[in-house]
Amino acid sequence: MSQERRYSFEFFPTKTEAGHEKLMDVARQLATYNPDFFSCTYGAGGSTRDRTLNTVLQLDGEIKVPTAPHLSCVGDSKAELRELLNLYKNAGIKRIVALRGDLPSGMGMASGELRYANELVEFIRTETGDHFHIEIAAYPEMHPQARNFEDDIANFVRKAKAGADSAITQYFFNADSYFYFVERVQKLGVDIPVVPGIMPITNYSKLARFSDACGAEIPRWVRKQLEAYGDDADSIRVFGEQVITEMCERLLQGGAPGLHFYSMNLAGPSLAIWNNLKLQR
Ligand code: FAD
Repeated sequence: MSQERRYSFEFFPTKTEAGHEKLMDVARQLATYNPDFFSCTYGAGGSTRDRTLNTVLQLDGEIKVPTAPHLSCVGDSKAELRELLNLYKNAGIKRIVALRGDLPSGMGMASGELRYANELVEFIRTETGDHFHIEIAAYPEMHPQARNFEDDIANFVRKAKAGADSAITQYFFNADSYFYFVERVQKLGVDIPVVPGIMPITNYSKLARFSDACGAEIPRWVRKQLEAYGDDADSIRVFGEQVITEMCERLLQGGAPGLHFYSMNLAGPSLAIWNNLKLQR
């Protein structure tokens, strides 16, 4: 973990023109902080194919922050993946976040030719050599579908060794889970940077729903405190900023190689933490 630390912001492509304009305004604001890159999510099964592509090209080309498209393999054929890889490559995109993805309910079982992210990493390397810096996903609190922690760690190690350059974690609120995960994978010979994914706390009910789905644990003391604030959005914001800032301080002091902010297409929540941490670029 000797490299310079890196900082990035993640967006999701919007459904409306008005949402897109707002996203670009947020991106312009975040760009003034000189992040290393932006990333933009991809709806598994290709549901956001054009919107992700257009958003990535605009963030990269007009806002001029290097932007990494997310790409997931479930539900997409190799031909569709190849076409997107070539579009990105020809547009000068140099970084990609390679995922398995989760098919939206109703789309049935995975219909793609690649079943797991390690196969997508191999596919990207076969198709495009060393062109892309490949990011993969990591789960310090275990992927929700994994049979057990050992399996999940072994699968992460295989995915990293398939040719990944670095990893971004699912968000978590327990720094020890991150340090334990990194220690475990390092012992198995994986020394790529594993960058914590940081979710600012802004809205308790949404966060609780989302955390249940993705397997992130909200510690009891945080949950109880957030519940006690009820509709008091200001108190939730102040408490959330304090909890996340302190966790980020611990992560950085403990050697985390950077931070990746799940911006949720908002500037304020991530920047509050950024400013508290006095991150200099
Ligand atoms: P994998 O690494 O393939 O793992 C999935 C599960 O299968 C795990 O339980 C793993 O242990 C197991 N497994 C892995 N390989 C094997 C194997 N070879 N054999 C048997 N079991 C195996 N989703 C989206 O749809 N779009 C996005 O843009 C998106 N962006 C994300 C960004 C980040 C930083 C993170 C952390 C997640 C993101 N996700 C996104 C969610 C992600 O797609 C889901 O968590 C998905 O369920 C798993 O994707 P993965 O790439 O981690 O899968």
